[in-house]
Amino acid sequence: MDAPRSRFLKVKCNDCSNEQIIFGSASSKVDCTVCGRTLAEPRGGKAIVKSQILEVLE
Ligand SMILES: [Zn+2]
Repeated sequence: MDAPRSRFLKVKCNDCSNEQIIFGSASSKVDCTVCGRTLAEPRGGKAIVKSQILEVLE
């Protein structure tokens, strides 16, 4: 799903359930720090999140 711009997102890895904070407009690919799965990819200036968004942080 699309992530809101300029927000930090708390996401949960679909594979290992690691919770991680990522930036909603990440300009580079974000991998899970535990298992290496791709959590988000940049696309058109915002991040496409490929994991479960638990919370959008203001
Ligand atoms: Zn993981």
